[in-house]
Amino acid sequence: MFNALVIRELDGQQQVAVEQLSDDQLPDGDVTIAVSHSSINYKDGLAITGKGKIVRSFPMVPGIDLVGTVLESESPKYQAGDEVVLTGWGVGEGHWGGLAQKARLKSDWLVPLPTGLSAEQTMIIGTAGLTAMLCVMALEHNGVSKERGEILVTGASGGVGSTAIALLAALGYSVTAVTGREQNSDYLRSIGASNIILRSELEDRAKPLDKQRWAGVVDTTGGNILANAIAQTQYGGCVAACGLAADFKLPSTVMPFILRNVTLAGVDSVMCPFDKRQQAWQRLEQLLTQSFYQQASEEISLQQVPEWADKIVAGQVTGRTLVKL
Ligand code: NDP
Repeated sequence: MFNALVIRELDGQQQVAVEQLSDDQLPDGDVTIAVSHSSINYKDGLAITGKGKIVRSFPMVPGIDLVGTVLESESPKYQAGDEVVLTGWGVGEGHWGGLAQKARLKSDWLVPLPTGLSAEQTMIIGTAGLTAMLCVMALEHNGVSKERGEILVTGASGGVGSTAIALLAALGYSVTAVTGREQNSDYLRSIGASNIILRSELEDRAKPLDKQRWAGVVDTTGGNILANAIAQTQYGGCVAACGLAADFKLPSTVMPFILRNVTLAGVDSVMCPFDKRQQAWQRLEQLLTQSFYQQASEEISLQQVPEWADKIVAGQVTGRTLVKL
């Protein structure tokens, strides 16, 4: 028997509780894993609170991230004792996920634990950190070098935002962080932000074109904030858009694209191919420092997860939340 957070649906309402499950209840898959840690992402918050249509079948064990040790493998790629990481692929949405002491998954979804990272560090990074790295890679791919100017990071106190700031600072970029929580300014500077602006400055409806301020943008919020960031991007700049913490809408115009050669780069981590994933994990391992893991994370138990799900959806979590199983 093992402990798992289980979401059940009763009379159209979601119910969430820690339950004891047995191995024969695990879903299909060719690798069974003893999970040591998971994490809380915004998407987990939406799934557990039911505030977003994330869960596709019930009962569901949520958790889009996990790290652990292989117990049994029918795949030649992995053997018992191997340490592996899982993010994305619809796990915790349509297939039982990481908020449990055991998981059974497809070997194709797994990545070997990067050498040089502990299980805890891997989950402090998690889907949020992987996405932040993919955003930075999108900026690099589109020619945004540190010499070109300032980078704007929105949703700065969150998991993706915090990790993007730390990565960009490590690469020598100057970073302006956008936050709705002025009280987090010291934290944002400690992880690498050079300047802070308040979210309210970017929340009004965007003009088609605005003063050119940013060489690149990592946007986790969508909505007017993203539209303003695009309108303020310099000629030839790039905006990497990965999130919708404010809104899924994009009330923008074509003007920045057709008059300033701005690129809007979409970033998805869920279906990211294996080679790009492995490259991103290697770069995360190289770029993030010990102080980032200490400053930007908090550890909780499985029992505390529902409370933290409420907090992340309410925008009250700072940095990353690690779940010890
Ligand atoms: P977090 O909740 O950790 O961070 C989001 C941050 O956005 C908050 O900390 C807050 O920062 C800010 N924020 C919260 N509410 C609002 C609001 N109403 N308007 C503007 N800003 C707000 O989430 P994650 O970092 O895990 O995820 C961020 C976004 O990225 C989410 O939308 C998530 O779904 C998406 N995402 C996408 C992925 C992909 O593959 N494309 C993968 C991972 C995440 P502050 O207080 O500093 O303003």
